[in-house]
Amino acid sequence: MLIDSYDRVVDYIRVSVTERCNFRCTYCMPEKPFSWVPKENLLSFEELFEFMKVAIDEGVKKIRITGGEPLLREDLDKFIKMIYDYEPSIDLAMTTNAFLLKGSAQRLKDAGLKRLNVSIDSLKPEVAQQIAQKDVLANVLAGVNEALAVGLKVKVNMVPMKGVNDAEILDVLEYCKERDMSVRFIEYMENAHAVVDIKGMKSPELLALIGARYDYSDEGFDGHSPSHYYKTSEGYKFGIIEPYEDDFCKTCNRIRLTAEGNLIPCLYFDEAISISKSIKAGDIKGAAAVLKEVVKNKPEKNRWSEDDGEVSARAFYETGG
Ligand code: SAM
Ligand code: SF4
Repeated sequence: MLIDSYDRVVDYIRVSVTERCNFRCTYCMPEKPFSWVPKENLLSFEELFEFMKVAIDEGVKKIRITGGEPLLREDLDKFIKMIYDYEPSIDLAMTTNAFLLKGSAQRLKDAGLKRLNVSIDSLKPEVAQQIAQKDVLANVLAGVNEALAVGLKVKVNMVPMKGVNDAEILDVLEYCKERDMSVRFIEYMENAHAVVDIKGMKSPELLALIGARYDYSDEGFDGHSPSHYYKTSEGYKFGIIEPYEDDFCKTCNRIRLTAEGNLIPCLYFDEAISISKSIKAGDIKGAAAVLKEVVKNKPEKNRWSEDDGEVSARAFYETGG
């Protein structure tokens, strides 16, 4: 079992399979980065799988595939199947912008994928285009429909921003409610890569908007999920991710792996240790030692709530969010 210095069990790893993306979301990757990680530095799926086996053997129970946009990477279903065949009980999920999902949902499900988180920041084509800097909505919604039709469980992520998509909080909530999908509103996290003048919305503002239409109760946290849950009087459960709250990190059980093999203990900080050398050399013991070291070094909490003018230098498209 992997336990950090604050007695938190770490049993969840998010694996970014590529930092590349077909969107240019204003809050994440508004411009094409100056340089991408050279292709030869990326870990192959076989190499990533070698590390997944190490992580599973050390007690990891949940793996989320993310990016960049994970569906840009060819043969993703084969990687999913490798993990599934090794340990079918693994909670295997993926976070995607869904632009390329139509036509591949069944294949992903057959490979062993259990759940999907899809980012939908707007249901208006022009607003979705303003955020992603590309005409994306029709493809995204078609992808979601197909995922639901093949029986994948889908959750929706929305990043509410003042003056951009704040008028659509209830529309997105209702779109999800009607389709029996859970929605999570993610408070915008400032980072050095985003467009500078974005004004995110915090939990009290979101709850005021939702409360104007629905009575809701506070359901608190559910296990290690980063979402604070609320339930409408009709019984629909929605979540808000509040990284600026003081207790947000208390139950964190996650670490992250970048596509080039950097193992990251916390989304906020720059610290990382590479597993690439050990994995490429077939040194399983070495890779397990790095994993334990990273877990041991996991910081107690992020610094988003500290208003000291510092902004996280971490790119969400690199860590996978
Ligand atoms: N491309 C995929 C997608 O957009 O779902 C997966 C990667 S994306 C980095 C993962 C999640 O991070 C998305 O739900 C996205 O909305 C969220 N995200 C990215 N930048 C963010 C930011 N600055 N603040 C809050 N959430 C952010
Ligand atoms: Fe791409 Fe996802 Fe970042 Fe948008 S949030 S730019 S879709 S990685």
